[in-house]
Amino acid sequence: RRAWRRVVRLLEELEEGCATPVGRLRQVVDAMAVEMHAGLASEGGSKLKMLLTYVHKLPTGKERGTYYALHLGGTNSRVLRVQLGGQRSTIIGRDLDRQPIPQNLMTSTSEELFDFVATLLKDFVEREEKGSITTQQESRELGFTFSFPVKQTSSSSGNLIKWTKGFSVEDMVGRDVSECLQQAISRKGLDMRVAVLVNDTVGTLALGHYDDEDTVAAVIFGTGTNACYLERADAIIKCQGLLTTSGGMVVNMEWGNFWSSHLPRTSYDIDLDADSPNPNDQGFEKMISGMYLGDIVRRVILQMSQESDVFGPVSSKLHVPFILRTHLMAAMHEDDSPNLTEVARVLKDTLEIPDVPFSVRRLVVNICDVVTRRAARLAAAGIVGILKKIGRDGSGGIAGGKTKVGSKNKMMRRTVVAVEGGLYTDYTMFREYLNEAMEEILGEDVAPYVVIKMTKDGSGIGAALLAASHSASS
Ligand code: ADP
Repeated sequence: RRAWRRVVRLLEELEEGCATPVGRLRQVVDAMAVEMHAGLASEGGSKLKMLLTYVHKLPTGKERGTYYALHLGGTNSRVLRVQLGGQRSTIIGRDLDRQPIPQNLMTSTSEELFDFVATLLKDFVEREEKGSITTQQESRELGFTFSFPVKQTSSSSGNLIKWTKGFSVEDMVGRDVSECLQQAISRKGLDMRVAVLVNDTVGTLALGHYDDEDTVAAVIFGTGTNACYLERADAIIKCQGLLTTSGGMVVNMEWGNFWSSHLPRTSYDIDLDADSPNPNDQGFEKMISGMYLGDIVRRVILQMSQESDVFGPVSSKLHVPFILRTHLMAAMHEDDSPNLTEVARVLKDTLEIPDVPFSVRRLVVNICDVVTRRAARLAAAGIVGILKKIGRDGSGGIAGGKTKVGSKNKMMRRTVVAVEGGLYTDYTMFREYLNEAMEEILGEDVAPYVVIKMTKDGSGIGAALLAASHSASS
């Protein structure tokens, strides 16, 4: 039938448009390393902001005491408490409270938003400390994970550059995030000090490093995506004379905004970007992260539905942005029932497309596969780009020319990248495609030395660990 041929053609075009052969991935690797360099060379030198974090020492495992952490960003807000016994990997008791951030607060005022999180904190502290026999330390210390771009002024303060991921609290832009939280905490009468302000990637790196000293980078694949890594201080050219005791500093890349002409882009991506509140922004994130993948799939199905009748009459739901959430897309993609009943269920319940024949269900699975495979493979290329920048990809790198090609010992050091976020931890196909692409790009000689380690709640626990390591010295 003509209609069927038309949708098959659209699927083929999608596949071609999303193609990521290893040669193209290597171009993305190179582009990432080059952009990192440019972003470190001068302020505004690249779409990668390469933000300084002022974190120059990572937790060692010797930290002791009770610390709190608060995570704000993405979909949920998390509060937690860790007790550290001074020995690596013995986090005695970690208690966690996870609360969705009410939609209306994402676009309200800073006072309302921070009052909400300060209340969460206060309730949590009261619950945790009730009946606790230990006397309270002088002042409670908090690690604050804030997963939006911040221009840090120290390890405990910094100003919001812009919102991402659907947040828009306009009076916050440019203001000191720690101060806003500290004031809200005071308004609630809670005795607690914001000891460190960190990006969620930095928290993940901190926990990764606490668990395994070879951890040099951390990447998040959740609602949004971002990465950070440990850079040599003398490579941060835009901040000359940067003195750190360790000779290094964690750099928050804000890689969601990465862009390169080598990224495979389709008309669906162009439309998604144009319809978004931040066009031309966060281009890498819009191809990779959980906020967007489902919406790319929705756009493809809409196009197919408009150009053929295989989905029946065009459902009005197909016009609703973000109605197809990424976890639903994953459920369809990973449907292993013989009749693809899960696919049928999502199409019917969410998109109001009933009674799709088996061949069309399979078509939908294919669409999900193409979109997620591209995302995961580009994500892998991004990670290898970081490794290349620091000379850990086995190629010699461009890290100041220090790592010579052929200097096997340096090339082959074990390198760990901590990864977290729901897209990676809960979406098996995404994870498998990412791991597979890492091996393809690195090659079989180098790949075994690069370990991707999944962490859980690292962004929060890591912030508490950083509060501990920073309060010990301050
Ligand atoms: P955050 O909102 O702070 O990024 P997470 O790291 O937990 O929180 O990531 C949540 C995101 O991960 C969701 O917005 C969704 O896009 C994605 N996600 C969660 N679970 C799944 C899943 N089973 N399949 C695919 N994506 C998922």
